[in-house]
Amino acid sequence: MRDSHSEQLKSHGLSVTAQRLEILRVVSKHPHITADGVIEFATKRLGAISKQSVYDTLNTLSEKGLLRRIQPTGSSARYEDRINDNHHHVICRSCGIVADVDCAVGRRPCLNASETHGFTIDEAEVVYWGHCPDCR
Ligand SMILES: [Zn+2]
Ligand SMILES: [Zn+2]
Ligand SMILES: [Zn+2]
Repeated sequence: MRDSHSEQLKSHGLSVTAQRLEILRVVSKHPHITADGVIEFATKRLGAISKQSVYDTLNTLSEKGLLRRIQPTGSSARYEDRINDNHHHVICRSCGIVADVDCAVGRRPCLNASETHGFTIDEAEVVYWGHCPDCR
């Protein structure tokens, strides 16, 4: 069973605030949402909140590993709470919609580099680009 959001916050050393809880709730309900989307939903429940504080909270939650931030080239950052696996994303070039794609390998890095240059490689960032059924 999944930990409640307040337990997740506590176990990451974060205090439990109404805004953090609301942001976690919104992101878990709307995977791959943008910061502006989070602000829109959170404002409905919490009333006026500062945009900057939502950006700050999203940064903190991503840095602490409660959320994953996806930064597709040329579009705004998106957030999701599916953090416990190595999965990839398929993004529509036309409307920007994002969907999850399970990793065929499962472990990071799932692509072998032909040359490591002596690096210890721990991740290959894989993004699939194309057109969604609505835009095709
Ligand atoms: Zn599309
Ligand atoms: Zn995802
Ligand atoms: Zn993969």
